[in-house]
Formats: sequence, C-alpha cells, structure tokens
Amino acid sequence: MAKLSDPLRPIVGEKAAKRLAALGPGLRTVGDLLTYYPRRYETRGELTDLAGLRDGEHVTVQAMIASVSSRPMRNRRGSIFEAVVTDGRGQLTLTFFGKGRQDWRERRLAPGQHGLFSGQVSTFRGKRQLSHPEYELIGSGPAGSERAVEFATELIPIYPASKDIASWQIADSVRLALAAAQIDDDPLPEDLRIRHKLYGYARALQAVHRPADTGDYMAARQRLKWDEAFMLQVVLAQRRWLSTEYIAVPRAPIDNGLLAAFDAELPFELTRGQQAAGATIAADLGRAHPMHRLLQGEVGSGKTVVALRGMLQVIDAAGQAALLAPTEVLAQQHHRSISQMLGPLAMAGQLGGADQATRVALLTGSQGTAARRRALLEAASGEAGIVIGTHALLEEHVQFAGLGLIVIDEQHRFGVEQREALRGKAVEGRPHVLVMTATPIPRTVAMTVFGDLEVTELTELPAGRSPIATHVVPAAEKPHYLDRTWQRVKEEVGLGRQAYIVCPRIGGQSDTDSDGGPAADRVGDDGMYGIADDGGFDFGDEVQPDEQRRASLSVLDVAGQLHEGPLADLRLAVLHGRLPPDEKDKVMLAFADGQIDVLVTTTVVEVGVDVPNATAMVIMDADRFGVSQLHQLRGRVGRGGHPGLCLLVTEASAGPARDRLDAVAATQDGFALSRLDLEQRREGDVLGAAQAGRKSSLKLLTLSKDEDLIGQARQEAEELVGEDPALGGQPALAAAITAMLDADRAEYLEKA
Ligand code: ADP
Ligand code: MG
Repeated sequence: MAKLSDPLRPIVGEKAAKRLAALGPGLRTVGDLLTYYPRRYETRGELTDLAGLRDGEHVTVQAMIASVSSRPMRNRRGSIFEAVVTDGRGQLTLTFFGKGRQDWRERRLAPGQHGLFSGQVSTFRGKRQLSHPEYELIGSGPAGSERAVEFATELIPIYPASKDIASWQIADSVRLALAAAQIDDDPLPEDLRIRHKLYGYARALQAVHRPADTGDYMAARQRLKWDEAFMLQVVLAQRRWLSTEYIAVPRAPIDNGLLAAFDAELPFELTRGQQAAGATIAADLGRAHPMHRLLQGEVGSGKTVVALRGMLQVIDAAGQAALLAPTEVLAQQHHRSISQMLGPLAMAGQLGGADQATRVALLTGSQGTAARRRALLEAASGEAGIVIGTHALLEEHVQFAGLGLIVIDEQHRFGVEQREALRGKAVEGRPHVLVMTATPIPRTVAMTVFGDLEVTELTELPAGRSPIATHVVPAAEKPHYLDRTWQRVKEEVGLGRQAYIVCPRIGGQSDTDSDGGPAADRVGDDGMYGIADDGGFDFGDEVQPDEQRRASLSVLDVAGQLHEGPLADLRLAVLHGRLPPDEKDKVMLAFADGQIDVLVTTTVVEVGVDVPNATAMVIMDADRFGVSQLHQLRGRVGRGGHPGLCLLVTEASAGPARDRLDAVAATQDGFALSRLDLEQRREGDVLGAAQAGRKSSLKLLTLSKDEDLIGQARQEAEELVGEDPALGGQPALAAAITAMLDADRAEYLEKA
C-alpha cells in the first residue's frame, strides 16, 4: 500500500512516471497524481461538440470516424492517411503522414468506429485538423454493439494532457495509483464534513477520477473544493488571529497638529465617502493593534487625500509614514503632488516652512547618490515624516526613526512577502498598514487574496468629474475609422487638450518587454493583478498562443508612424520603462506642463498618473489588454473638468475579444468589469499574482462561482481557529496545510 507522499515510479512504471513528471505541474507523488483532476468527463457514446474547438488548443475529443482516405505524398515517398471524424454535425480531419503505405492504420480506423482523439487543433486549407493525433478506439456505436451498451453510462475522465502523454494514459496511471493508495487521513474535520454533508477524502479522490455517475463526481468535486477553500481560509484566519496579538504604537489624532493645519487649507470639500473612510482609519490608527486595511475606490475617487490625512495623523503622534508605489513614475508623481498639497507644511527647515512642518522624502532605485543619501538620512533621522518610494524602500539598509504607518498604493503589484519586509522596519511594535487599490476587487478575491485585510470602499467620485465616452474602433473592418481617430486626437489638441496613445509593447531592440513595475505587463498579459505568470500550466482555458498572432503594436513604431503621418503637426513624445529614469521624469513633467501634446506610451501610465488636461486616450491593439487594465487606463483621462474620450482600437473581429471591448465601452462600473475579468481569467493568475504560488493549491475552486462556499469556509475557519489556533486537535489538517504552504514556498522560490 502506498502513501500519498510516495513516489509514483514504482506504481506506474518508469516511462509513465517520467511523462507525468514532465506535465505542467510536475506530478511526482501519488498525491500529486490523485490531485490532478480531470478537466471534464465524457460519457461513452456521447460525442464531443466539435464546433467549439479552437486553433492551438490541445484537445481530447470523442468522435465517430465518418470516412477515411489515403494518398501518396506528392514530393516525397510515403503516404498521407486522412480520417474525417464527426460529432454528427461538425467535422474534424485527422491527418497521419507515413513513410510507406498505412494500410494497417486504415484497417484500424474504420468508418463507424468511436474513439478518443487527442492532439493540437490547427486549420489547414480551411479545414480543422489534428495532425498525428493520439487515439484510443472505444468500439463502434452509437447503439447496437454490446460494448457501447455496456459502457453507455461510464464516464470517461478527460485530463489536461500534453503531446507526450494522452488523457487516457494519465487515466491508466491514475487507476494504478488509486488501487495502490492507502488514504486514511482526512484533512477536513469530521464535524464539518457532517454539517456540510461532504464525502470523505478517500471516497472523494476515488469518485473524482472514476465517478459512478454525474452525482458522484459532483459530490466529489464539492468536497475537494471544500479542501481548497477551507485550508486557505484557515491560513488566513490564523494570520488574522496572529495580527491581533501584535502590538502597535497607538497614533491617536491631536487637535492642533499638521492634520488640522492641512484640513484648514484643503481647497475642496471631502466627499462623504472620504470622510467616512478617514474616520475609520483615524480610529484604527489610534489603537494599540496594527491596522490592516484595504482602501478601494475607483480611479479618481480621491484615495490619496484619505491616505495623506492618515499619514499626517501619524506624524502628529511622533511617527513616520512610508508610501510605497509600484512604479517610479508613480512614486515621483506622488512625491510631487503630496509636496504640492502640503505646501509650506512640507517645508520643515526651509524658508517659508510652517511651524508644524515636516518633510517629504523620495527614495527610488535610480536616483543619484547624493539625493539618495539625503533621503536615507531624512528617513533614518525622522526628519522626513513621509518617505515615498518604490521597491527601493524595501531594501535592508533603509531605516526609519519611527515607522508608524505604511501606505501601499496599488497593492496588487506587491506580494505578502513585501508587505512583511516593510513591516519589519518598525522599531517599536508593528506599523499600521493601509493598502490602496483602484481595481475594484470582487468579494471572493477580497476574502482570499486579501483575506488578512479589512476592506473600506470609497464609492462616490468627487463632484465635477466628467464621464469618459468610450468607443471601439474596428481598424480591420473599417480602416477609415482609424483616420477619424487621429482626427479626433487633433481636434482635442486644437482645443488646447492633450492625449495619450497607449501600445502593448515598447518595441525596438528587445521586443518582448513592456512596463509596469515589479511584474512586467507582457503582451496579452491581463493587467488586473499585473502579473508575470510563467503561463506554463493551462487548466482548461483556451488561450490563443501568441505565435499565432501578429506581434502587437509598439510604442516606438506607432510613434514613428504618427510622427511621419497623421500627427506630424503635433508635439509627440514617447514614455516607456526602458527610458532612463530621469528622462522618464522629464517627459512626464513636460507632459504635465503642457509642453507635449501627445504621449505615446506603454502601460506605465496605467496607475495613478494624473494630468487633468489630458482628455483623450487611444489604446492600440486594445484586445491585448485585460478588461480591468483598460478601465484603469482610461481613468487617466477626464480628470479635469472636460469630458474624456477613450478609443479602443482593435483588429479583433466578432468573438470573445471583441465582446470584452464592447463591455468596457458599455459601462463605467469598475466592479462589473472586474467581475467580468475574474470570470475570464484563470484563477492561478489572479492568485499567483498577489500571493506567491497560491496557484498550486487552487485547482477546482473558482473565485467567480464559489462565493457561497468560500464564505462558509471562511466562517468555519474563523470558528475553528478561534477555538484551536494552533490546530492541535486537527493533526491531519495541520499536516495538509503545512504541505500546502511548503509547496507554495517552493514554487515561489523557484520563480524568484
Ligand atoms: P485616486 O483615488 O485615483 O488615487 P486621487 O487621490 O489621485 O485619486 O485624486 C484624484 C484627483 O482628485 C486629485 O487631483 C485630487 O486632488 C482630487 N480630489 C480628491 N478628493 C477630492 C474632492 N473631495 N473634491 C475635489 N477633488 C478631489
Ligand atoms: Mg491614486
């Protein structure tokens, strides 16, 4: 009998073990294989709908052979054997090239036979085909033959396969592993299982791979989803429990300090949402336990002021605040705008500085040594009440005299580890943490990825915000729309306004890179959580492989073409991550100052960039961006009193890509768009982004569909951890969680 942690080799054999290890997630142990779940199930005799196949996809289909033909190759010796298979409506051609005649194949693949066929879909001369597919015949059907009747109710598991190992070969190994495995422990507590009527672990693993019927595998999957949701929630509940044990220095508000002086000079009235969020944060900061709060609000909802007021409260209570930004452009912009908002209040020790004044320091990776040394000194001495920076802030030699509050802007680009690194910089107790994000996060994501944070929302926008009209420009179908697009840009500039033109790629020597802080947004990489995922393992999602598409438009090419052509009269500049930082800063400043009409740029402008006079944005190859990312991008325009215009240029024809763009054009509700984004994205992407490796532990659970289950699991976890924080009474659960965290850590280290 084998344990789940035992290696597969002795059970499935050398050859299969090697192939299983080479699969995406690397299946090496019995447990690895048994938690490699089928993507779907086929009922014997029920044919796969062939209409749904897409080029590039690796598929396993059940189909009937309709006709076969064989012909010699034209230019070489050998033959081409073709079998056309059907689901009763659509057709798919199986093509086999042979060195000689392929009579033996012709005898096996006879018309009327049913089989499973596995390979990569491509299109040749307008016909869908699988070239050299693997196959397994399962008798002739549909009815009549005894074999078909016998198997009529049997469900065939279909596994995510590769070119080296077909779905049914995986199924064979799974069968061996199931027969050999001894599964005694159950990670889910028994009373929980009874309350929620869940299968035991051994039964669930058996049923998910070899279900008796549909009800059986549904029950199995439900149980296994519980494992995933519950273990995650227990970890988060433990983390929350631990944080209530931590001590923070309370930073209660005072009467006549910096904050009061700032409020007195504020040129606008705070929205009700800003007031409410401000009050919540003010109260949190006054407590002796660290605040862990997520402040979310649409682009332009005024989060910065809310955060700044919190920082001032902390400074009034003899502390310092650090503001961590995801990109250099953003750090610099925060530095400028916060210094400006504070005015004399930020000029301690300078002529014209106010009595209570503090200083605002900027620390980035690229600044000169002198500036850097001064910033480090101001942080360490406590002279700077506010220290703004990028990742450079996380480095070990950065020290604070009394770090009381960490504000993290656009959290999704920072992982838990980074939050931890900053927390460690407080001399006394733990600092309070405020995380700001403009990407509305669906509740389930908040409960999982950000499960250790409490959430505050800023719902209303400050008065005077203008709507952003968004239109899709179908460049392939209607080329003259593109001319009209450049015309519109000229009109805006004619009115004294400015425009952004955003491209997915920089272009030039190194072709693949783009911008966006720690995690570069690669072409086609959806931006919601801004990740650079290795993309290796694709669980059932059909993503068009990049090599099938033309390269996306680049900043350098587009800027060149516009400069020579349609926008020759305008003042153009480019902005992207490969520019030297001072150059970037110069361009941004010049744009903010109105010396540049049109900025051709990558997604460096995605987060937080604020130039109120910019009213138009043209997004090239808009289908290459994620829904939430587009929403973020267009938030850059319409920030002043003038209405904004966003044009989504695409060559995508009708289909899912176009639908996404239409959705962005149709609504300005960031929450609706983020839900859409979530539904269309792979969970691994969502989670892998914010918490290293989490991907490995969520296989069946979908954040977009399992909200109820996640909510229940959270409650169960909360109760369990409340009673038994160290899980002393749940050894199997504790062991499973340790294994999960170890796997996460290993994966994270591998990537780092
Ligand atoms: P975001 O939430 O996107 O970070 P910001 O904090 O950058 O938004 O605010 C966007 C702009 O709105 C800034 O110029 C800011 O000064 C301004 N602003 C913030 N709050 C208000 C308000 N209550 N009334 C008017 N303008 C505001
Ligand atoms: Mg902002």
